[in-house]
Amino acid sequence: MQLTDAEIKEILARKKMRKKMQQRRKRRRALLFVLLLIIVVLIVILKPAVRISERLEKQHQKAAREASYTGPPRGTIFIDPGHGGMDSGSVGDSKRYEKDDVLKLATEVRSYLESYGFTVVMSRTEDKEIDRETRGKMANDSGARLFISLHRNKADGNGQGVEAFIPKRNDEGSRLLAENLLDALEKQGFAKRRIHTGTLNDPSADYEENAVVTMPAVLLEAGFIDNDMDNALFDDHLSENAQAIAKAADKTYMTLYEPEKAAQAAEEEARAEKLSKEILNTTLEAVSGLIPTHSKETEFEK
Ligand SMILES: [Zn+2]
Repeated sequence: MQLTDAEIKEILARKKMRKKMQQRRKRRRALLFVLLLIIVVLIVILKPAVRISERLEKQHQKAAREASYTGPPRGTIFIDPGHGGMDSGSVGDSKRYEKDDVLKLATEVRSYLESYGFTVVMSRTEDKEIDRETRGKMANDSGARLFISLHRNKADGNGQGVEAFIPKRNDEGSRLLAENLLDALEKQGFAKRRIHTGTLNDPSADYEENAVVTMPAVLLEAGFIDNDMDNALFDDHLSENAQAIAKAADKTYMTLYEPEKAAQAAEEEARAEKLSKEILNTTLEAVSGLIPTHSKETEFEK
C-alpha cells in the first residue's frame, strides 16, 4: 500500500502530538512526585517538634497531678524560657538550640514550683518568639514576686559553669535569688561563676527584661551549650537541676515574703543536721566499742 504525502504528514504530526502529550504527562508526574516529597519532608521535620511540646505538656500535667501540696496557695513566680521561634539563641554542636534546652528546663521547674504551692506563669510554653521587653512586661502584669529568665551560655568552647545577671538596681532580693540559684546548681556539679550586675560589659546597662521588671529578677545562664561537661550535667540530671532551681526560688521566696516559714525551715534544717550528727556519733561509738582497746603489744608489755 502506498501512502500519499498528506497521509505521511498526518501520521508524523500525530506521532509528534503523542510525544508532546507523553512529555507533558512525564512532567506532571515529576511535579507530583516533588510535591509529595516536600510534604513527606515537612511531616518528618514538624512531627518531632509537635511531639516534643506534647510530651512536655503531658509530663507537666502528670507532675501537677502528683503534686502533694495541700496548703494555702502561695504567690506567683514568673519563669521565662529565653529566646524561641526564629530566635534560637546560642547553637551548640549538632544543632543543639538554646531555645529548646531552656524550654525543657523551664517546664520541669514549673512542675516543681507548682508542687510547692506556687502559681507559675511562663512567658512561653512553646517554640515562639517574644521580644525581651515584652517578657518583662508580662512578668509585671502577672503580679509575680520573683522573675527567673533561663538561658544557656556560649564562649567558643572556653567557658564552663553557671552564672547570673541581676538588674543594675542591684537590689537585695535579686542578689539573694542569684546566690541561692548558683549555690543550688553548684551542688548539682556545675562550676559556680560570678553574679553580674547589669550586662556582661556594662554594669550601668540592663538586659531589656531586667530593665522592665519590678520584682527581684535573675537572668540565669544554666551552663555553656558549647561545653561537653556542662551539656552532660544539663542532660543527665535535667529533673534534678530543675528541682534545684525550684528549691532555690522557694528558699528565696520564704526569706523575702514568708519570714515565719523561713524560720521554721531553718529550724527544721538545723534539727536534721543535729540528728544526723548524733547518729554519726553513736555509730562511731558503737564501732569503736567493737575494736579491742588493748592491742597485743600492750599485753606483752604487761
Ligand atoms: Zn540566651
